[in-house]
Amino acid sequence: MIKIKNLTKIFTLGDNKLIALNNLSFLVSSGQFLAITGISGSGKSTLLYQLSLLDRPNQGTISIDNINTSKLTSGERISYRLKNLGYIFQDYAILPTLTAKENIMLPLLMQGVKENIAQEKAKEALLKVDLQDRLDHLPSQLSGGQQQRVSIARAIVHNPKILFADEPTANLDTESSETILKIFLNLHKQGQTIIMATHELDYAKLAERNIELRDGLIISDTFK
Ligand code: ADP
Ligand code: MG
Repeated sequence: MIKIKNLTKIFTLGDNKLIALNNLSFLVSSGQFLAITGISGSGKSTLLYQLSLLDRPNQGTISIDNINTSKLTSGERISYRLKNLGYIFQDYAILPTLTAKENIMLPLLMQGVKENIAQEKAKEALLKVDLQDRLDHLPSQLSGGQQQRVSIARAIVHNPKILFADEPTANLDTESSETILKIFLNLHKQGQTIIMATHELDYAKLAERNIELRDGLIISDTFK
């Protein structure tokens, strides 16, 4: 269970203050597949950044399974994130000089997992995204859709409590986008909590809940 209370993020640019998230409160239950929608600039990425502990809000709290993350020190936040959260970026953000398998092993090695175990887990994760035959390919030898699947495998390899995805299909053609959404639906069926930001309503509709933002406010919250 994720409890978001009075979450506010303000960006200050010179004399201007921009309220990117305006006092948001909501709950996300474990295993939920939630899509955050809204036009460009509505606050989707900013919200994902706060929830995934990549950034700190000005006000408010985010509690994940009864841990109040605002009370964690910077170091504790980093290790909490490595251990419990997974993040998928629009532009994949995988390292070009590492193979698919090595990219996926990296977060495990950073947590001190032994190399042979990391290798086995990376293979299992690649199987889940149907890329078991691309273990030793470099990103440049993979299509955009395949690179995004590597980034999904990397984000789920440690069985995160929450999987975040920010516009995961924005750079992809329809067929690859549908493959990515099928993977999310499968992970969701297996109990994975997923929070996905997207401005593509056809994909948002596949999630069981949609929260629409505008100007940093929730303007609708609908369940299937
Ligand atoms: P979305 O992902 O929905 O397109 P964002 O969360 O990226 O929206 O942005 C929300 C608002 O916050 C926008 O007005 C954007 O310009 C502003 N913003 C986002 N990041 C920053 C930043 N680092 N500094 C200043 N303003 C920002
Ligand atoms: Mg965005």
